Amino acid sequence: MMILLGDFSTFLFISKVNSILEMGENMKHRLLIPLLLFVIVSIPNLIVDAEDSNHEARLKMYKDYELASGVPWYEIAAIDQYERNTYKFKEGSDKLKYDTISIFITNERWSGPENPYYYDNDSYTINLFGGIGKDGNGDGVADINNEEDVMYTMVEYIRSFDTFKEALNSYYQQDQAVKIIEEIAQLFKHFDTIVLDKRCLPVSKRYSYSFQDNYGTARSWGGARSHEGIDIFANYSTPVLATAYGVVEIMGWNDYGGYRIGIRDIYNTYQYYAHLQGYEGDLKEGDIVEPGQVIGYVGSTGYGKEGTSGKFPPHLHFGLYKYDGRCEWAFNPYPHLRRWEKEEQ
Ligand SMILES: [Zn+2]
Repeated sequence: MMILLGDFSTFLFISKVNSILEMGENMKHRLLIPLLLFVIVSIPNLIVDAEDSNHEARLKMYKDYELASGVPWYEIAAIDQYERNTYKFKEGSDKLKYDTISIFITNERWSGPENPYYYDNDSYTINLFGGIGKDGNGDGVADINNEEDVMYTMVEYIRSFDTFKEALNSYYQQDQAVKIIEEIAQLFKHFDTIVLDKRCLPVSKRYSYSFQDNYGTARSWGGARSHEGIDIFANYSTPVLATAYGVVEIMGWNDYGGYRIGIRDIYNTYQYYAHLQGYEGDLKEGDIVEPGQVIGYVGSTGYGKEGTSGKFPPHLHFGLYKYDGRCEWAFNPYPHLRRWEKEEQ
């Protein structure tokens, strides 16, 4: 999801400007130059996923906690990333609460559901009422507004279970959330980084292709439904490329999509590739892919029982879906495809 300048950096920027405007003339000039530099240096980063910043500080924190707790950094990082992906879809949380991490623990869970003190910060009574809140920075207070305390609480929570999966099941109680967090952890571990934001077009620019914005137009086959994707027309056998770092969630036949592949990236985004002629090599569910990797070939399969082909001109149907913590919804890939196309020039 594209947002120009995340809420957080906007806030930082505005507060910088405000504090400079309140200063004397001399100070203004001395500070406006660094401010201008700050703006110029920031420009290439303006068009980024808003939730995707502050990598260095985040990674350092994950590694510090791994060292202190033994919980692998990529497990901590995956929970934090999932929370970063979903925070803005939660009620009443339009901006991140902490400087570095995105983990959001409710007061009920922190203090304990039966605790009469909704904002309890006393480890003893929190524990007594079944809350999970802990004091991580050793100041004697289990403070839900302190990110060290929140991070420590989450890591201790994970540590109290035999496996990461059990901890996730208990915390989220949602199969989809658990699966996605495990996939994010797998990607972070495999690539040994949390910077996995590279994208590319699903067809190579060395082949001829064309697409228009046909998202949301009506479909005839299989009853009334709207078109949840973009059709990229290309010749049979044109290689189809993974658009992002991701895990292959689904492969196989579907009566609508023919031979299709579904891949999930670290942003809870699901990329759906349909009507393929076939798959690349021995690609299978659970495999990890990277942007530009060949995953299959353009075909015209679908609209019937397995093997049906040729009911329409060959094309790649490309869909994007987002899991927001509760449900999964389609969004229009068109502006993204055009942007990735431009970035490859
Ligand atoms: Zn389509």
